[in-house]
Amino acid sequence: MFEKILIANRGEIALRILRACRELGIKTVAVHSEADIEAKYVKLADESVCIGPAASSLSYLNIPAIISAAEVTDAEAIHPGYGFLSENADFAERVEQSGFVFIGPRPETIRLMGDKVSAKNTMKAAGVPCVPGPEGALPEDLREIIKIARSVGYPVIIKAAGGGGGRGMRVVHTEAALPNAVATTRAEAQAAFGNPTLYMEKFLENPRHIEIQIMADQHGHAVYLGERDCSMQRRHQKVIEEAPAPGIDRKQVASIGERCAKACRKIGYRGAGTFEFLYEKEEFYFIEMNTRVQVEHPVTELVTGIDIIQTQIKVAAGEKLRFAQRDLAMRGHAIECRINAEDPFKFTPSPGQITNWHAPGGPGVRVDTHVYTGYKVPSYYDSMIGKLIVYGDTREQAIRRMRIALSEMDVAGIKTNIPLHQELMLDTNFIEGGLSIHYLEERLDDLIGVKKDP
Ligand code: ADP
Repeated sequence: MFEKILIANRGEIALRILRACRELGIKTVAVHSEADIEAKYVKLADESVCIGPAASSLSYLNIPAIISAAEVTDAEAIHPGYGFLSENADFAERVEQSGFVFIGPRPETIRLMGDKVSAKNTMKAAGVPCVPGPEGALPEDLREIIKIARSVGYPVIIKAAGGGGGRGMRVVHTEAALPNAVATTRAEAQAAFGNPTLYMEKFLENPRHIEIQIMADQHGHAVYLGERDCSMQRRHQKVIEEAPAPGIDRKQVASIGERCAKACRKIGYRGAGTFEFLYEKEEFYFIEMNTRVQVEHPVTELVTGIDIIQTQIKVAAGEKLRFAQRDLAMRGHAIECRINAEDPFKFTPSPGQITNWHAPGGPGVRVDTHVYTGYKVPSYYDSMIGKLIVYGDTREQAIRRMRIALSEMDVAGIKTNIPLHQELMLDTNFIEGGLSIHYLEERLDDLIGVKKDP
């Protein structure tokens, strides 16, 4: 096992990784920007290194600074968390070339999955069902593209091979709109991702977002840790996640999970990973793979009893998975609400000092956060300040616990999206479960409109 790990991230996930390390008896190095110098988790780490100014491009994305921090502190491995450099193949390569272990898949795997065209082809070849559409990238010739769209059937979605974060995609409903959509998306893809390659898929009109968590070691073992339903989204950003996904046949989940695990064995995947699917009319369609830990990993931890971060660290150190597929079962139900520092009605960020922070507790309640009374939410980073996760024997109990936990939660000084979560936990359609990825946006006005300022 490693003696010392450098955590190349910030916020709640930095603290989450730190706690996993402490439990495993591993020393930690926290790297931080000038804006995070006062963060308490930085003080909890055995060592800390300032890697640059507040702007992420100069600190949390600063590869040479992070490698130097690992060198001066004699860290053996680097955990990238999520976001920032976690899916940057060049970073993973630099980490390994510098003699450290990257806690994640091999750089080649990250590169393969980072290009959505190659990811989709790989998964299709491995027997994972994908969204219908032509194999490979779109040609340059517009007449060819028109032909392809006709054979796929409208509506179609044009997507950037190098896209991410919900950007670089455009839905096209008619042939008349196609030329312009292709040109605009290509220009955007070049500007935002430095890669003009596009591909096309059938646009699924009312899907759910269901994802499969997998875990693989370096000895050829790979298992799936069940699924999560992340359909509650606003602008392609997840707001609430839960496990298991309500109303989906367990045999179907097992069959798709098995295919994901098999694909991982086939490509020699290592570490934690997530297969993202759209789910419509009782069918799964692969859209992309995330080669890192997800924000929403705690719901899976609560229903499987597996510590995903500790397992990531153990397999990176070369250990075999200590559980086989037959040892894994999902018990009960878990729901996560992402707590964002933002205006609950306008969704504008709300950074600033938290003058009072009271977190809920009790059976089945978990709060993953780095904030506290007096903490100043910096304006430079993502607005998510923590996650409230509850567990119940049933989904009904989990929802009830979430309502109580949200009502106990007291945050002053900044605005948060807690009121939105409270409305959703009372929403009859959410309570029924199984909603599509469009539900939240469609109902947003009804859910929060009543409380809007005049
Ligand atoms: P990103 O990497 O930018 O998150 P994804 O490929 O995961 O891109 O797609 C993000 C979101 O876009 C999906 O969660 C879904 O809401 C929508 N989307 C993507 N592909 C399709 C499709 N073929 N049909 C319908 N919606 C889609």
